[in-house]
Amino acid sequence: MELKLDLEPIKIGGRELHRPFIISGPCSAESEEQIMDTGQQIAQLNIPIFRAGVWKPRTRPGNFEGLGVVALPWLKKLKQHTNLLIAVEVANAYHIKEALKYDIDIFWIGARTTANPFLVQELADQMRGIDVPVFVKNPINPDIDLWIGALERLQEAGLKKLVAIHRGFSYYGASVYRNKPEWSIPIELKRRFPNLNIVVDPSHISGKRELLREVCQKAVDLDFDGLFIESHCHPDHALSDKEQQVTPAQLNSIMESLIWRKPDVTNRKLRHNLEVMRSKIDRIDDEILHMFNARMKVVEQIAEFKKVNQVTILQASRWSEILRERKEIALKLGLSEEFVASVFKAIHQESINRQTTIMNQEMAGKTT
Ligand code: PEP
Ligand code: MN
Repeated sequence: MELKLDLEPIKIGGRELHRPFIISGPCSAESEEQIMDTGQQIAQLNIPIFRAGVWKPRTRPGNFEGLGVVALPWLKKLKQHTNLLIAVEVANAYHIKEALKYDIDIFWIGARTTANPFLVQELADQMRGIDVPVFVKNPINPDIDLWIGALERLQEAGLKKLVAIHRGFSYYGASVYRNKPEWSIPIELKRRFPNLNIVVDPSHISGKRELLREVCQKAVDLDFDGLFIESHCHPDHALSDKEQQVTPAQLNSIMESLIWRKPDVTNRKLRHNLEVMRSKIDRIDDEILHMFNARMKVVEQIAEFKKVNQVTILQASRWSEILRERKEIALKLGLSEEFVASVFKAIHQESINRQTTIMNQEMAGKTT
């Protein structure tokens, strides 16, 4: 079943927010001074939405888990002293009930919560009948259906002001990122739901300040709808996520350094030039597809050969050799090794699938 998201503009108390949606504030609310100081600086930057974690889902116990309800009056005070709209993370029905007592404007659902349909349903049920914008982070694992499922549960509870947040995905192994961005997943989400706004959380993707600008620029270049970024009046003393937080002033210089490119070309001559290049791409893609097909025809001959000669489909040494050689060629051509490896892994998997079908054809025939 294909879901359609019936969405409304993000309008709060008569105020309509437009893209780019910029949300900033500390990872966690730590003290009244920290909230007021950071918040007032954020308000001066004309950023409309302030974020602060009151309940913090930490992967391991022993880390700072937020101060809970004591922090809510500070956020309410900040709201009264500035024009800021306030967003907090909610992970259960109790969080929603408490946050609403303090006029919180926006809820966000964290990555660990999105991964749990029981909790998402509990949140959706608690929000039923409340007109509140909800920002939904991707689940920690790269599962687009789990992300869509959360949006769907909220939608079924009548929530229409939904925004998705790409904050990267957990992985095992080495990476420069804290949570690897898998851009193809939010791009696919956008393709399926063109009216859904998707913002990017460069802080939790990067895990360190030095990478923030690059990830922000990437988000802008991919035409995402905004940024959800952590800032703190004294990042080095932050009680959580200190390496990835920046001061409001540093945030401002990142924002000012970003190049906001246009999503399309309107000038007729420039448009023509782009179309010429795009038709070259179309022709090359067509050639690639025909080459894939030619390769698969040879794979079929090999399958017949292996079947007659009773040879296994996979010879591990041959596969290692293919991967090594292709990576070597990629390097010489200036192509990324990672890219070429992933393309050849997909080709190899398809070759195995074809060979499996052919080599087992007769056997299947015999059993019927
Ligand atoms: C956060 O935004 O502070 C947070 C806990 O993020 P995530 O759910 O993406 O880990
Ligand atoms: Mn954080």
